[in-house]
Amino acid sequence: MTTENTCKTCNDSQCAAQEKRPNERDEDFDDRQAIQSRMCQIKHKIMVLSGKGGVGKSTVAVNLATALALAGKRVGLLDVDIHGPSVPKLLHLEGTPLAGGENALIPVKVEVGQGSLSVMSIGFLLRHRDDAVIWRGPMKYGVIKQFLRDVEWGELDYLLVDSPPGTGDEPLSVAQLIEKADGAVVVTTPQDVAVQDVRRSINFCRQLNLPVIGVVENMSGFSCPKCGELVNIFGANGGREMAAEMNVPYLGAIPIEAEVVVSGDRGTPIVQAKPHSETAKAFGRIVRILLEPELSAAQAQPEPFADGRPLKIAIPVTGGLLSSHFGHCEQFVLFDVELGAKTARNKQALTPPPHEPGTFPKWLHEQGATVIIAGGMGSRAQSLFEQNGIQVLVGAVSGTPDDIVRDFLEGHLTTEANICDH
Ligand code: ADP
Repeated sequence: MTTENTCKTCNDSQCAAQEKRPNERDEDFDDRQAIQSRMCQIKHKIMVLSGKGGVGKSTVAVNLATALALAGKRVGLLDVDIHGPSVPKLLHLEGTPLAGGENALIPVKVEVGQGSLSVMSIGFLLRHRDDAVIWRGPMKYGVIKQFLRDVEWGELDYLLVDSPPGTGDEPLSVAQLIEKADGAVVVTTPQDVAVQDVRRSINFCRQLNLPVIGVVENMSGFSCPKCGELVNIFGANGGREMAAEMNVPYLGAIPIEAEVVVSGDRGTPIVQAKPHSETAKAFGRIVRILLEPELSAAQAQPEPFADGRPLKIAIPVTGGLLSSHFGHCEQFVLFDVELGAKTARNKQALTPPPHEPGTFPKWLHEQGATVIIAGGMGSRAQSLFEQNGIQVLVGAVSGTPDDIVRDFLEGHLTTEANICDH
C-alpha cells in the first residue's frame, strides 16, 4: 500500500516533502513535512547571508524587510543568527516575551506603513540581551529547526531569514531545512578580506543549489554629512567586481552613514526613520529588484559606478535595431546618461574596429562605456567586458536603441534568455 504525503496546510501533495531520505529517521521526516507545510504559505523565502560577522547583515535584513513592508507586502523576518541575534535591538523589541502554545510560536508584529512585518528571533529566547548563547551543535540545529517548524507566520509575501554568518553548520542547517528558498542575498563590505569570505558564501550557495539573488556591498564609501564628499574608507567596488568575477548579480551599494547606527540603536530602521536619505534610497533600489523576483541577474539595474565614472550605455545595432549577435553589429550606439533625471542626454553612433575576441570590450572601454545592453553574448565575451569595467546586460529583446535605453532607464526593459550563449 502506498501512502500519499500531502501538505498539512494546503492539502497539496506537490508541496509536501515527498520522499523519506535514505537513513532519515521518522521524526526528521515528520519535521521536514511540518516545515514544508509552513513554508508553503510563504511566496518568497530569501536567506540573508554573509561570509563573516560585522558586515551589516542584520542591518541589511532589517532594512530590506521594513522596506518591503513599507511597499505594502506581508513580510516575515526570522533571525536565526544564534551568536548575535541583533534583530530585536534593531527593531526595539528587546525583552518581548514569546507567545504561543505547544508546537506554535507567535511572531511579534511591528507597525510598518501599509504592509505588515512579523518578527521572530532567537534573541527572544534569551532572558537578557547580554546572555551568551553557548549551545552545542545539536542544540543549535534543534533550535533552528524548531523556529522554522513552529513559527505561525500565516500567509506571507516574503520571509527574510537573517542567517548565522559564515559557511559552517548553522547556515547550512537553515538552507537545508528551508529546502525551497528563492535564494540568498549575500552581504559584504568592500574590504578584501570580507570579499574573500563572501566568495566562500557564493560557493556555499552553489554547492547547495541555492540561487544567489545578488551581492549587497554594505559600508561602501562614506558620505561626509558636512561637505558631501564620498570617501572610500574600505576601498571601492570590491563587491561589484567580485560579483562580476563570480558571475552573480550585483544588487547595489549601501554607504556608511551615521544615521544607520543611530536609527538602529533607536530601533527604527533608516528606511523608515529617514526615507529620503541616500542610504534609504539605496535600499529602495535593492527592494525594487526583490519585488520582481523573476528578474534575472541581468535585469538588475546597474548603478553609477562608485569610482565616479558616469553611466554610458552601449547598444550594438544592425539596420537601426538591436543586433542579436553583438559581434556582427554594424555600429554601436552610445548614450550618456543624466543620472538624476534618468534620461539619456547625448547619443553617438560609432563604427567599431574589425571584430576579434577582445577588441570590442577594449574599444568600448576607450569610448567610456560602462554598460553594454546586448541580445545575446557568450560567457567569455561577458567576462572580457567585465574585465574592462563594462557591466553586461544580456537578453534584451529587439527594438530601436532609443526605446531600449528608455525602457532600461525607466526600469521596465524586457529581457529574455541569453540567445547566443556559446
Ligand atoms: P552583522 O549582522 O553582519 O554582524 P550588523 O548588522 O549587526 O552586522 O552591523 C554591525 C554594526 O555596523 C552595527 O553597529 C550597525 O549599526 C553598523 N552598520 C551596519 N551597516 C552600516 C552602514 N551602512 N553604515 C553605518 N553603520 C552600519
